[in-house]
Amino acid sequence: MAKQFKYLFGPVFSRRLGKSLGIDLIPFKTCNLNCLYCECGLTTNLTSERKEYIKVADVIDELEQFLADNGDVDFVTFSGSGEPTLNSGVLEIAKYIKTNHPKFKICLITNSLTLTDEQFFKELVNGGTSDIDLIIPSLDAVSQSVFKKINQPAANYQIEEITKKLIEFSHKFSGKIWLEIFVLPGVNDSKQELEWFKQILPKVKAEKVQLNCLDRPAPYDWVKTATESEMNHFYEELTSAGIECTIVGKVKHDDYVSENVDPITTIVELISRRPATIEDICGTLNCGKETAESYLNEISQTYNLQKEEQSRGTFYRVIK
Ligand code: SF4
Repeated sequence: MAKQFKYLFGPVFSRRLGKSLGIDLIPFKTCNLNCLYCECGLTTNLTSERKEYIKVADVIDELEQFLADNGDVDFVTFSGSGEPTLNSGVLEIAKYIKTNHPKFKICLITNSLTLTDEQFFKELVNGGTSDIDLIIPSLDAVSQSVFKKINQPAANYQIEEITKKLIEFSHKFSGKIWLEIFVLPGVNDSKQELEWFKQILPKVKAEKVQLNCLDRPAPYDWVKTATESEMNHFYEELTSAGIECTIVGKVKHDDYVSENVDPITTIVELISRRPATIEDICGTLNCGKETAESYLNEISQTYNLQKEEQSRGTFYRVIK
């Protein structure tokens, strides 16, 4: 079996990013939000505290070990099982990568909340912007009541302040911004909320607006994925106001690994963060159903492999 890493996962091959190595800077599951749709499950440590949850030196050490054997990565992506910017060392790690491995592009996936942290905002604008190539921030609501319902924030975050800082940041950032909105029917797609989205979104200087929807089990049973017509309705409302957007949530198997990556390690790393069906695993590994089943069988002999029945099928998750 290939070497196991604690903070790195993948690399996965994504149509959007190419070959992307994930870095998880936060212990499972620490976040400043507890989103209704979170594919990692309920937030068990709901906090707005920023600190070095995982030591910068430990992440760099793993990164160097990984890169010593696998140099052909296009993107290094900060994401995983919580909000990466809660780790106070995130920009230091970005700087390290850019300085020591300048050929890699850096992507940061964030829920946008830490933009309201004055210190972080300053650091990001003054240094991080030159180290990070792509930021994928999310904005699922524009009214405080919908924000509280869909994202269930820690502390007293105000969505007005978050959108204000996101707009300000987008005009100072020289890299790319792909803004992501998670569509939850009956929660953030009311006529009023859509009207407010139409007013706010044109002010954010983003290269793309991406609409996403639930593709894996949500932490709450009543949360259902948007149908195609519900996604289309959201899309048409925004495009009718001249906002260019794309629907990404219904695209399956966006990510698959390259052939020379150990499949067992890859599956364990992926499904310990987000559950997946056999079909998802087949798509990820570009393999047949029987092969995927044999991998899961092998994994179940070493790991705590759990199953969950959902409308899209049986989802597998490794509890580490
Ligand atoms: S911000 Fe991301 S990690 Fe945090 S609860 Fe929401 S979806 Fe999950």
